[in-house]
Amino acid sequence: DNALHENESYTERLLDDFQDALDKHQFTVYYQPKFDIRPETPALSSAEALVRWVHPELGFISPDKFIPLFEENGLIQQLDLYVWRETAAQIREWKNRLGTSVPGSVNVSRIDMYEPRLIETLLELLREYDLTADELLLEITESAYTQDSAQIVSKVNHLREQGFRIEMDDFGTGYSSLNMISALPIDALKLDMTFIRNAFKDGGDTRLIEVIIDIAEYLDVPVIAEVVETREQLKELQRMGCDYFQGFFYSKPVPGDGFLTYVRDTNMR
Ligand code: C2E
Ligand code: CA
Ligand code: CA
Repeated sequence: DNALHENESYTERLLDDFQDALDKHQFTVYYQPKFDIRPETPALSSAEALVRWVHPELGFISPDKFIPLFEENGLIQQLDLYVWRETAAQIREWKNRLGTSVPGSVNVSRIDMYEPRLIETLLELLREYDLTADELLLEITESAYTQDSAQIVSKVNHLREQGFRIEMDDFGTGYSSLNMISALPIDALKLDMTFIRNAFKDGGDTRLIEVIIDIAEYLDVPVIAEVVETREQLKELQRMGCDYFQGFFYSKPVPGDGFLTYVRDTNMR
């Protein structure tokens, strides 16, 4: 009972503090590099934007604690827009400083997909920071497609017509039918992290990963693996035909400030 109660008041606290936190910039965006592993030497391809809440009293709060909560309580759209804007500003800043473009990928909650002005909002952001649509990749979780597929598919089609690239996140857990998958408008598949975890634990095997890589080949889209933690895992994924990876083996998500120096100076150990 006590634990339940504590949990409830923690939840209420997060909801109560949200608006103030947003105004006071307590949310920070970290970036995790993604690499193209098709060439001999892996090449930086983009950076995933991942939000953190640095709460003045509760400390560092991980997104797993508040994203599902904000999705239930109608706050996620405000937070996501904040993260997308921060990310767009960061891409612009890297571009100005380096002269080369490092695309960012942002998480788009299934709730955002129902926002009638979603496409206009994203296009305005591009204009504001003078970016092109292929510099802001959109990660949409597979389960968003299964809940109201017709509406989501048409939204995604419109986004792609505007030049946005869609990465289907957490692929393999959203229970899309195989029939539906072949009709989906997507540009990349991100393997759900449980496949990687299960494959590389004791007694695990990589057969399901191979099945998904086959599906991606059939769909003619690249496969991205996340939560890759060791060189052995990376080698194995490469051997199976995985195209991109991100994970602690190379880097945790880091603040945008030092990101490029950090990526440049960190070798594939
Ligand atoms: P996700 O989109 O599947 O992101 C991948 C998660 O795996 C991130 O957790 C990342 O920090 C973690 N990760 C990456 N590599 C490794 C690794 O090698 N080992 C381990 N153990 N973990 C690794 P994070 O940052 O805690 O985010 C959790 C989830 O919260 C994300 O899962 C995403 O669904 C959601 N999220 C994060 N930021 C945002 C956001 O700005 N908007 C929305 N709507 N959702 C977000
Ligand atoms: Ca993601
Ligand atoms: Ca994921």
